[in-house]
Amino acid sequence: MSAPNFNALAQSGIQRLRAYDPGHDLVALRREAEASRRVLVELGSNENSHGPSPRARQAVLDCLHEIYRYPDPLGGDLKLALASYHGLDTAQILLGNGSHELLMMLAQVFAGPGTEIVASQYGFAVYALAAQAAGAQLRIAPALPVDHAMSRGHDLDAVRREVAYRTRLVFLANPNNPTGTWFSNEALIGFLSEIPASTIVVLDEAYHEYVTDPALPSALPLLERFPNLVVARTFSKGYGLAGLRVGFIAAHPELVAVMERVRESFNVNLPALAAARVALYDQDHLDRVREQNTLLRSELLAQLRKRGLSVPDSQTNFLLVDFGRPAIPIESAMVQRGVVPRPMSGYGLPTCLRITVGNRDENRRLLQVLDEVLA
Ligand SMILES: *Cc1c(COP(=O)(O)O)cnc(C)c1O
Repeated sequence: MSAPNFNALAQSGIQRLRAYDPGHDLVALRREAEASRRVLVELGSNENSHGPSPRARQAVLDCLHEIYRYPDPLGGDLKLALASYHGLDTAQILLGNGSHELLMMLAQVFAGPGTEIVASQYGFAVYALAAQAAGAQLRIAPALPVDHAMSRGHDLDAVRREVAYRTRLVFLANPNNPTGTWFSNEALIGFLSEIPASTIVVLDEAYHEYVTDPALPSALPLLERFPNLVVARTFSKGYGLAGLRVGFIAAHPELVAVMERVRESFNVNLPALAAARVALYDQDHLDRVREQNTLLRSELLAQLRKRGLSVPDSQTNFLLVDFGRPAIPIESAMVQRGVVPRPMSGYGLPTCLRITVGNRDENRRLLQVLDEVLA
């Protein structure tokens, strides 16, 4: 019996979908580096080079004797901790196996064939994926121009113009990945005031823990005023727990209740629940991570600009570096020398690479390698 055309059997949105591109095959690169006794400097995924709170690490070890059990299906302790930390009600919180899962679920639940999802050019790749997987039409608002202070950042006026009566969801990241750009709380309030109540605005704050600009507080306090606002957060970036997979959204309790219907009951695993709760209370660690990142980010930014590269300011733990010529050969040469950035061709930015701000040693190695490659 011959295999059927499985693609044709998939639902229509999925037939045209290409899987999320996670960048380089790091497992293979690590194996090669180990064989040639070289360090691999991984700067492609915006992971936290300073690592998680030691207490969170310990919490993982401490829960190992329990891993034959299912985790708490409600994640009650973590929700309580999050609610108290952020001044929310537990009914406003939905936990996810990373926030990626929740972004997909939002589209699955609130969009579908015949509806539209709006995002910005150079927005996070998952938004387009979520729209397509749900079978919704994706509308992309043009980004701000390259020479704008927020080079290639979200243009909220342009985004608003794409919103129509069929628009169920708007996805915005603040600060944005991969541009590192951001918009002010004031601009967000203006934007939300003009969006109809039946359009859900998802504000992805994956990099919030790295933010230092006082004009960019979290949007969580705006939930009171805008019931159609959803704020997405993750423990993968500032908290350094990417490998455990835990994130959450905060939103109106009724929106959360609707999404609960499709949440897989044990979506957040037991070590993740334990570690995230403890990480939340290690404020000193988080503060140190932010301070280190702020310092190292500005040093790296200055070094890159000194080399004539175009790099916009960033409120995150990464920089979008524009080489002004095709970046693929530069990237290959970097990878050959053991430094791994994230290629940006998939984002329509073929002259750019996204580079995570590493620790001091990693940044030094990055600059060394760049000097060799660009010579
Ligand atoms: C990294 C990232 C996420 C989420 O990551 P998870 O590990 O799935 O929580 C979400 N949004 C943006 C913009 C990101 O860069």
